[in-house]
Amino acid sequence: MDAPRIIATAADLVSVGESCRPETPVVLTAPEIEPGADPHADTWVLVATPTVKPMNAHGGIAAPGEPRAYVVDIDEHGVLKRARVVQVLQVGARQVRTPGQIGSDAMLADPELRRIDALHRPDGDMRPLLMEDVARVDVLREGIQDAIDAPHQPLAPAVVRRLEHALDALAAARLELEDALRYGDSCELARLRIVDDDRPCPARLGDVLVFLPDSPGAASGQVQPGCRPHAALAERTLAGTHIVARE
Ligand SMILES: [Zn+2]
Repeated sequence: MDAPRIIATAADLVSVGESCRPETPVVLTAPEIEPGADPHADTWVLVATPTVKPMNAHGGIAAPGEPRAYVVDIDEHGVLKRARVVQVLQVGARQVRTPGQIGSDAMLADPELRRIDALHRPDGDMRPLLMEDVARVDVLREGIQDAIDAPHQPLAPAVVRRLEHALDALAAARLELEDALRYGDSCELARLRIVDDDRPCPARLGDVLVFLPDSPGAASGQVQPGCRPHAALAERTLAGTHIVARE
């Protein structure tokens, strides 16, 4: 895997192409933006990255959710299962923070795509999703305020009065979203509704594994990770539940 490169000239494109095997597929990626980049500045560049994607059973690139191909090696250390990969040349637009320089991180530029990504995070941390919602409310509030303050006064007073009520409601919505953020990284015991005491989960590093016998909302004999307060609550309230090990 090579580092991403800015494609500013035809020669850059040829150079990146020559570093790949001729049959390497070119994959177009969604536009990205680096944290701290000025959205109003013209700092967009085309970035090419030789990289790998997981392979499907037919030797193509595995789509999200599609079963992946594996290769199994057996040696003196045991069995090693490795995901098979396809070499690709990834190409996409990126707004950089420092002109002419590729930063270390970038996120999807489209807030809608960022939201979909955040909703399906494998670690279950929903705080980025809620922060996207806070940002959407802010954009809506700013848009309404700009219309009210427009120097050519396009809105009648009856409209402005109602928009001001809408702004109050959006300010209240923002406070609710900020409050929801405290619960955004919930443990599995809370997320699966095995317990619900409206207490935010503390940092997930202290999670413990909890054995759950037959209990409302839980399959028989399952083990789930939970934060310590919710593990203790489950032990107190659900007969036969007990902490089995630290995660
Ligand atoms: Zn918890």
